[in-house]
Amino acid sequence: MVEKLSLEKQILDGDRRALAKGITAIESSRLDHRQSADQLLQKLLPHSGNSIRIGISGAPGVGKSTFIESFGNHLIDIGHKVAVLAVDPSSVLTGGSILGDKTRMQTFSMRENAFVRPSPAGETLGGVTRRTRESLLLCEAAGFDVIIIETVGVGQSETRAADMVDAFVLLLLPSAGDELQGIKRGITELADIVLVNKADGEQRAVAQRTADEYRSALQFIKARHNAWKPIVSACSSFDGHGITEVWEHLIEMQLALKESGEFETHRADQALAWMWGETTALVLSDLKDNPGVRSSVLSIEKAVFSGALHPTLAARQLLEKFKGTT
Ligand code: GDP
Repeated sequence: MVEKLSLEKQILDGDRRALAKGITAIESSRLDHRQSADQLLQKLLPHSGNSIRIGISGAPGVGKSTFIESFGNHLIDIGHKVAVLAVDPSSVLTGGSILGDKTRMQTFSMRENAFVRPSPAGETLGGVTRRTRESLLLCEAAGFDVIIIETVGVGQSETRAADMVDAFVLLLLPSAGDELQGIKRGITELADIVLVNKADGEQRAVAQRTADEYRSALQFIKARHNAWKPIVSACSSFDGHGITEVWEHLIEMQLALKESGEFETHRADQALAWMWGETTALVLSDLKDNPGVRSSVLSIEKAVFSGALHPTLAARQLLEKFKGTT
């Protein structure tokens, strides 16, 4: 009889079904699942880290999924294994997901060396990012050497995604004239590569001009890395214009950061920030479960709500209950 391989071994063998199963355990809110997910992560951790982690962001409709399809197919064609994970805060509200729609990335997701995972639904943004970060490690252990984190370009989710990637790509639309002045503000200091998408047909020239404008605007924005000055280019996911260059830029960036030592320190900083984020979440959940806190939290909340107790003093009181000092 053939011995059944452990989930850990199957994931290390690159089995995508096992990988999906592992991620499901990570996303589960059941305590027993959580415990086995923690064990799995612990075992797979030494096999993670060997990928380039890319964040792709932009407003809805800018062409993120079409871009990922075209870019991802190109990467697979040149021999890479590509996983796409989503950080989607709207899944919290709708229970749906930006990657949930099966018609998205159709040709890409069918490829043998592709793995696509929608954002977990029904979670807080903090929960979504936490799980996405862990899923990313699992994908690396399964041999995926390019991990794309897709996020909708709205505030917090963008920042959270930037906190877990090596390079951050921002997609923008071509625009002309006065409109351009306004949207220039939409450019963030998170971006390492800015792409003006839909640079095809009649829009090609407009997209090139838009890229020039962004390039000059970027001079006044502080770069995220010392060894890499953000670049701007135009591309089209429809006719492939500029797509291969995006990968070349990413490789160039990775080399520059590795040479300067920033690649490693950036990842180490991210690991520390992750540790503190986890610690905060764990302490908070312990505090909320604490019997002393639970027995007095309602009256303390009421006092703050009515204005009888100052929030700072209330926080201190809760902490003292937690520590058992009152
Ligand atoms: P997302 O919401 O950012 O993921 O955007 P989608 O990838 O769903 O694309 C939104 C719309 O833009 C769709 O109708 C696409 O067909 C179209 N689109 C995406 N990429 C391009 C492109 O490179 N050129 C043109 N002309 N249209 C594009």
